[in-house]
Amino acid sequence: MLTSALSPATAAPAAAVPPALVDQHGRPLEYVRLAVTDRCNLRCFYCMPEQGIQYMPKHELLSYEEMLRVTGLLAGLGVRKVRLTGGEPFVRRDLVPFMERLAQLPGIDDISLTTNGVLTAPHVPALARLGVKAVNLSLDTLDRQRFFDITRRDELPRVLDTFHALLDAGIQVQITAVVMDGRNIADLVPLAALSRDLPVDVRFIEEMPFNGGSHAAGPASLPWHHGRIRRHLEDHFGALAPVATAAGATAAEYRAAGHRGTLGIIAAYSRTFCGTCNRLRLTAEGGLKTCLYDQGVLDVRALLRGGAPDAEIVGALAHAFRHRAANGFEAERQRPLHQLSFESMATIGG
Ligand code: SAM
Ligand code: SF4
Repeated sequence: MLTSALSPATAAPAAAVPPALVDQHGRPLEYVRLAVTDRCNLRCFYCMPEQGIQYMPKHELLSYEEMLRVTGLLAGLGVRKVRLTGGEPFVRRDLVPFMERLAQLPGIDDISLTTNGVLTAPHVPALARLGVKAVNLSLDTLDRQRFFDITRRDELPRVLDTFHALLDAGIQVQITAVVMDGRNIADLVPLAALSRDLPVDVRFIEEMPFNGGSHAAGPASLPWHHGRIRRHLEDHFGALAPVATAAGATAAEYRAAGHRGTLGIIAAYSRTFCGTCNRLRLTAEGGLKTCLYDQGVLDVRALLRGGAPDAEIVGALAHAFRHRAANGFEAERQRPLHQLSFESMATIGG
């Protein structure tokens, strides 16, 4: 249960924390990412095509009730942290009331979200009241024309409104920028400079091939891999000092001299962080992914809608987690013949 204005200090003591489930490679389960929708109000070219997107019919998306049930069961297996993502979470109606109910689940003590920021600013006071400590704001450029070229929508001003609203509310802002060869390399330094002048963390993520068929998967070797991103930043800001991160973190964190916030690099394509991965993903249609690179290992929606009792669902979730692949390369090899680029991060729950 989250400590917030909604959970007064006088509330009953928290239930005993169950021991975390551990997979066959010794990694604990602590964290779930819920894709609350597959819909989005942007069309980022690295995530989905500009036109012709086939959204799932609404009845095929998990309902909030179903997500609450699964999250409650996962809390019993050790999950403490929930991140809402999508698609764009704020495109789904009644997201904040859903978050309020999530925050009341015993065992859940950290709720965060990843948003593109277009619709988020009006909800910032509610997020603060809920006790949300950090928000991941996806922002690949500070240049309005390049923002339009990348997202195919002219929404940078509203995203910046959200950025300032979060700062004003005292919510930690973690900017995430996808590093795209030939698209936003000129933006890396201006984005990173935000962490010098403001208390924000800026993370750069390697581009992955999950673009929903927006473009071909690209060259086998990534032009802007984590090492090159770091060198690029060091060329401008000087040596980056490594910063300790929480177990299970995907970003390698650094601090440049004199910066208030950190700089992070997420080797999402190079997959350097799999050894400590502590998370599951639930897609908007209720598919369980034990790795970003697997094709879905359990149809949770079928269990929920087929009337399975809690014990059966818990057993299936635990079995899937225990038997997950050692890393993203193994998970990718285990997929049936299926190009990664046909999938979109919006349905995976990035
Ligand atoms: N719509 C929300 C947003 O953009 O923040 C949440 C969903 S989005 C799929 C989650 C994250 O995945 C974003 O930070 C986005 O930049 C990232 N992402 C999407 N496609 C990606 C790709 N092909 N490679 C790397 N990151 C990607
Ligand atoms: Fe939408 Fe986020 Fe995908 Fe961009 S990255 S198209 S904002 S889901």
